[in-house]
Amino acid sequence: MNPPPSPPRAWAEIDLSAIRENLRTAREAAGCEVMAVVKAGAYGHGLEEIARTLAEEEIAFFGVANVGEARRIAEAGVATRIYLLGATWAEERAEIVARGWTPCISSLDEARHFNDLAFMRSARLKVHLSVDTGMGRGGFVAEGLAAIVEELKGLGSLEIEGIGSHLSSADEDEEFTRGQMAKYEEILGALGGPERFRWRHLSNSAGLMGYAREHCNLARPGLMLYGVSPLQGHPLRLRNVMSLKSRVTLVRTLPAGHGISYGRAFVTTKPTRVATIGIGYGDGYPRHVSGNGAEVFIRGRRFPLLGRVTMDQLMVDVTGSEVDEGDEVEMFGPNIRVEEVAAKADTIAWEILTGITPRVVRVYA
Ligand SMILES: *Cc1c(COP(=O)(O)O)cnc(C)c1O
Repeated sequence: MNPPPSPPRAWAEIDLSAIRENLRTAREAAGCEVMAVVKAGAYGHGLEEIARTLAEEEIAFFGVANVGEARRIAEAGVATRIYLLGATWAEERAEIVARGWTPCISSLDEARHFNDLAFMRSARLKVHLSVDTGMGRGGFVAEGLAAIVEELKGLGSLEIEGIGSHLSSADEDEEFTRGQMAKYEEILGALGGPERFRWRHLSNSAGLMGYAREHCNLARPGLMLYGVSPLQGHPLRLRNVMSLKSRVTLVRTLPAGHGISYGRAFVTTKPTRVATIGIGYGDGYPRHVSGNGAEVFIRGRRFPLLGRVTMDQLMVDVTGSEVDEGDEVEMFGPNIRVEEVAAKADTIAWEILTGITPRVVRVYA
């Protein structure tokens, strides 16, 4: 007889209908076609599952960080075009050309290498020009770009089909963002006008939600697809996609004066009913929330964490409640937003989502 399988202690429920709906919301808000950004395992939601789901929505591209991610999407049987969001490393380029993925070009050397590789395969590789309007991470700067583009035109095995840039501060600095957009438009003008490029793209989620972009025809939302708004108080309704959950493994009442967790950063001042939860920083729940007033959601109510988050377990104060062993605990989800957990950990929602570790079982519904 097989041993009975146990349910997981920590799991992430992922609502695929919500991510579909968020994609439609993003597309509508953008008013143009969409590149769904699925880097970092679709922001921790599971690359293959999310790519298969979103591919059914007929998006123009998937945006990924590297060839490993691109390969996983291709091998999942998804035919949607794949775009590499950052500069490529020389050793990655042969595979990119062979698979027909779409890189963005940040330097002449990169372009020449791609051109040689495509020439050797008798192929013509579609590439996008990356322009740096203020992010400082990749792309050509505006100065001297027209001459560079002339040189790129001489690379007969490349087809420059698109031009993209990236916003550095769309969720925090409107003036700078408008400056980036103006610079992008200026570059388009200097290179012969927007119609010279099949794809023109600039906006991440915050750019898409907060700004009009007449000169673009492609948007690159990431975070908002996963139901999280980068702009506080924005009226656009997004549905929660991931709910991180665990269970109460133990409930005890500890006397006054009893330390809780490493370093005894918290000591009870009265008899306290303490629930131990089977999740910790080894699952990606951030240790940095310790002592910052983070809460979890059990039986329709919030309960505060006590002491430090440990690798596999954490404790909460359930004094005066009916909380019992085996109860389900929402760490974040519809009742406690991941943004709240991120703020208490002094970081951003992107980092929390991508930091959920493989030990957490992803459950799709
Ligand atoms: C990650 C990324 C995005 C998506 O950003 P969100 O803020 O998650 O919407 C878009 N474009 C580029 C180039 C990126 O690296």
